[in-house]
Amino acid sequence: MLNIVIFGPPGSGKGTQSEYLIKKYSLAHISTGDLLRKEISTNTELGALAKSHIDKGELVPDDVIIGMIDSFLDKLNKDTKGVIFDGFPRTVEQAKALKAILNSYKTDVTIMLNLQVPDKELMTRLIERGKVSGRSDDNEETIKKRIEVYNTQTKPVMNFYKAENKLANIEGVGAIETIFETICEAVDKVK
Ligand code: AMP
Repeated sequence: MLNIVIFGPPGSGKGTQSEYLIKKYSLAHISTGDLLRKEISTNTELGALAKSHIDKGELVPDDVIIGMIDSFLDKLNKDTKGVIFDGFPRTVEQAKALKAILNSYKTDVTIMLNLQVPDKELMTRLIERGKVSGRSDDNEETIKKRIEVYNTQTKPVMNFYKAENKLANIEGVGAIETIFETICEAVDKVK
């Protein structure tokens, strides 16, 4: 299987690049952020719990997120060519859990694409996105908190994949198509 972790701070283009990857490599896709927002919009208990964290720019607890990934992979068609993990793992605990779950299916993460974008550019992009996204966490105060959470809690995940020789740094500023070309070069080397 070709299993891709698409990684980077909020606003780095993970969702956009995932859409391109899904089409080109025919992969399944899981965005934990999208799943949580769906729970919120359908007023589930999990949605209420998620909202209390998301609106503050904090991470949703690991056990909740890992449970979601577990059930997604459990339901996955066994002929699937691979999966794009978008917005997950966001803690080292989640990265370890993902490895254990994938190993139980006799597979593992193939590559981690690390989209690199400076903080200032992220802020500009997310404030622009906030004007159309309707996302409750795309406001200046929450964006600052999300970037801080990324730097303290999520960045260490990079070292986890670096130690496994799976980290590919991608320049995340420039034309979407150019960034995608760089991504494809990295993926084609390992697939
Ligand atoms: P995203 O759409 O990926 O930007 O995620 C939006 C928000 O959902 C994040 O700021 C977190 O509050 C929550 N979230 C999404 N994915 C995760 C995850 N893997 N671990 C913890 N919280 C998450």
